[in-house]
This record gives sequence, C-alpha cells and structure tokens, in this order.
Amino acid sequence: MIFKPQTYRIADRPEEPFIDEEEIESLLSSHARSSTQEVEAVIARSMERERLSLQEVAVLLGASADDRQRVMAAAEQLKREVYGNRIVLFAPLYIGNRCTNRCAYCSFRADSLETVRKTLSDAEIVQEVEALERAGHKRLILVYGEHPLYSPEYIAHTVRTTYGVHTAPAGEIRRVNINAAPLTVEGFRTVHEAGIGTYQIFQETYHRGAYSHYHLGGKKQDYDWRLTALDRAMKAGIDDVGLGALLGLHDWRFEIMGLVRHTNHLEACFGVGPHTISFPRIKEASASLPAASPVSNEDFAYAIAVLRLAVPYTGLILTAREPAAIRDMAIRYGVSQIDGGTHLEIGSYTAAETETTSPKNGELGTRQFAINDNRSLEEIIDSLMQNDYLPSFCTACYRRGRTGEHFMEFSVPGFIKRFCGPNAILTLAEYLSDYASAEVAQRGWAAIERALLSLPSSSAELTRERLQRIRNGERDLYF
Ligand code: SAM
Ligand code: SF4
Repeated sequence: MIFKPQTYRIADRPEEPFIDEEEIESLLSSHARSSTQEVEAVIARSMERERLSLQEVAVLLGASADDRQRVMAAAEQLKREVYGNRIVLFAPLYIGNRCTNRCAYCSFRADSLETVRKTLSDAEIVQEVEALERAGHKRLILVYGEHPLYSPEYIAHTVRTTYGVHTAPAGEIRRVNINAAPLTVEGFRTVHEAGIGTYQIFQETYHRGAYSHYHLGGKKQDYDWRLTALDRAMKAGIDDVGLGALLGLHDWRFEIMGLVRHTNHLEACFGVGPHTISFPRIKEASASLPAASPVSNEDFAYAIAVLRLAVPYTGLILTAREPAAIRDMAIRYGVSQIDGGTHLEIGSYTAAETETTSPKNGELGTRQFAINDNRSLEEIIDSLMQNDYLPSFCTACYRRGRTGEHFMEFSVPGFIKRFCGPNAILTLAEYLSDYASAEVAQRGWAAIERALLSLPSSSAELTRERLQRIRNGERDLYF
C-alpha cells in the first residue's frame, strides 16, 4: 500500500522522538473552524480509503456541529464498507499488578497502599486460561505492571504457558497479545520468540507537559523511552503493534493528532502502521490526580468517528472500561474489537477465586480500575447478534503470516469478503457448537445463515462445506 508522502518539521527516524507539539497545536488552531467544503473534501479522501494526513485530521477536528454529523455518517458508512458487521472478541488477563511507577491515574502505582498486590503463579495462570477457554475465548491480551519481576524472560514464559493450556472439547488460545512496559530491542526479541501476537503500549498522553504532570515516579517518567517503544518492538521483528492514548489527561483533539502522527511515524520508518489503536477514557481508580481534560460522550463518539476516517484499515479497540451503551455507539462509528466477559481482579476468572478477591464496598482490591460492562461473553455475543453484528474469534491472519506489511497488502475490501467474513462465521460456529446455550446457539446459527447470504457465492460455498466439517466435529478451520 502506498501512503502519500508527508513532511514534518521533525523527520522520522527509527528510535528517535517525533512528536512536535508546536506543529500539532498550530495545525489545530489554524483549522479551528473548518468550512463545510473543507470537511467534505477530507471525507471524500477518506471514502477512497486513503489514510488521512495530520492536516486533514485537523480539518475534521475543527468541524462545526452540523458538519460533525456528516463526519459521523461517513465514519459509519466506511466502517460498514471496510469491516462489514464483524466484531472481533478478546479478553484481558492481568498477570500481575506489582509496579515501580507512580502513574497518578492508576491503582497499581507503587505508592497506592490500598491495592492488594498479586502476581499469578504458573498454576494460577493455567487455571485462569482454562476458565477463559471454557467461556469460549481464543484471543487474550496479557497485562503486567512495570516491575523487575516482569522481565522479558518472565513475560515470554507466561505467553508460552498460556499457549500450552488446552481444555475439552477443543479449547485453546490461538493468539496471545501483551500489554507491558517498554523493553529494549533484545527484550522485545525475547517476547517475540515466545510467539506473541500484538505488542500493545499506550503513550497515555502525547503532550510532554501533561505527561510529566501525571507520571510522578519510576522509569515511566521517561516520555521518549515510551514513545520509541514500538520502534524497538518493530526492530526486534514484532510487526503487529498496538498504540493508544489514555483520554482525559490532555485535550482529546491533541491526542487524536498524536495517535495519527505516531501512525505516520511507524509507516515512515517501517513501512507499516499499527495493527490497532486504543483510546480508553480514564476510569475510577484510587487516583491521586483527577482527569484534567475529561471527554464528554459526545466528543468521545466524534473522536472515534474521526479516527475511523483517519486510519481506515487500523483496528480500533474499546474495552469494558465503558458501559454497554457507549460500546454499542462506538461499534457503530468505528470500533472493530471489544473484550467480553472481562474480569480485572487478578485471578478472578477462576470461579473459586472470584469469591475471595472480588472487591467489596467500592474497594479496588487487585483491580487497576473499575469496569462498566460486566456482561458475560455469551451475553455480549448475544447482544451483538441481536444488533446484526457477527462476533468473530478469528486469529487466521496471524497464524498464516498475514501480519505487518503483509497484512496491509491484504487490507482491501475483497480480502475481507474472502477471508475475514468466512473466518468470522467459522469461529462463531465453533463457539456455538462448544460453548453457547441452546437459545443463543439457535440465534447464532440464524445469524450465520444471514451472514452467508452476504458472501460472494464461491466463498459461501466453501464456507458451507467447512461449516459441515465443524458440525462433524472438526475444529480450527480457516482461510
Ligand atoms: N504497566 C504497563 C503500562 O503502564 O504500560 C501496562 C499495563 S497498564 C496496567 C495498561 C493501561 O491501562 C495503561 O497504559 C493505561 O492507559 C491504562 N489505565 C491505567 N489507569 C487507568 C484508569 N484509571 N482508567 C482507564 N485506563 C487506565
Ligand atoms: Fe504501573 Fe502501568 Fe499502572 Fe503506570 S499504568 S502505575 S506503569 S501499571
């Protein structure tokens, strides 16, 4: 895929900082009141599936209230055209909450005395993964605090342990992603060799002043070390990376520009952008500093629509930090991946442990922050299907080597029809056969029938043939 060349005042070089605050701020102020004509021109480029430039994103961020509606409608249409009705499902698994940093918004911070510290033992990791597999999960993200205990070797060990867990009838985790502190190139090589899917890390805020305001102690105070983490990951051969910003620390418009600039930087240096972008809003935690720039629901919806138009082929993630109604809205305007049946208390996927570790009376216990979507995976799947979405547990691209650059080559509409749609159907069929209640399974098979109708006839035929094989007991069939 060819991206339009774009020149910035700070040239893109691997492992060198690239955020130019003055440039971002001057683009935002010079486009503070975009005309309808300007907004329409940018929308038109986006509908051609072009990744937008920083300036074009600034135009969308400066749209009037009326033009915002146009942008939202375009994002909804683009989302449907590029992703169809598929929603990819995953679950986070917190491995340990020890941390030497002091991030003012996070309950894991070193000076939070009310947080109960815990790191899962190997046996507990196995139990947790078994519980997740029994719920039907195939894709996990392992999450760690920043602590000498969580060395690259330890992280690699937990990833291998996770891949090694199998449960009846055909439970297995097919893709293990991680969200962990920045590593050296050598460290990233170690976790890459363990077979991680995506390495995810959030810059939190791209604004240096806000960054130092919230990061009060520990290694994470080094903005540049964090900013260049994904460069080192890519250098180490990890070509699926996820970036993100924690919305609420600084003006959300600035953060959206930061995310797009980070995307350009990776494309310029490595020829491939991020696999996913996350943009969580700060949630209740035992925080020592409140959110300086809270983002309203209206602005949040708009931010998602702008990102959808800005990076048409990048997955957008929204987690259970947000309540069901916000997640439904976010899916409509751009989000393509959500977590389901999430528990953040460390060790709580294992039912026996839930009783002992669930925080009571507003206590945070071992959790990082409060979540607002407590539905089970099955409830989420059911609700998605009732809203005409197709839940997907597909991990095929990663396993077929369609990652990084190769994934970008495939990110074209025809590709999605030939691969993603059928794989979503096949993985949903496995879920319905192995884990769903009779009632949900019935609605699910009906959803599959509807989805088959939207496939080109040759794909539908091949998919039907594999569905029959799944009904006959075969598993893990994909295109
Ligand atoms: N310790 C590693 C780090 O900081 O990158 C990885 C794990 S950290 C637990 C994962 C992410 O959770 C952070 O990057 C941050 O954006 C997010 N987070 C922390 N506190 C939060 C809060 N109160 N509300 C929402 N998200 C939060
Ligand atoms: Fe530690 Fe990460 Fe929480 Fe910061 S956000 S205190 S680094 S776990």
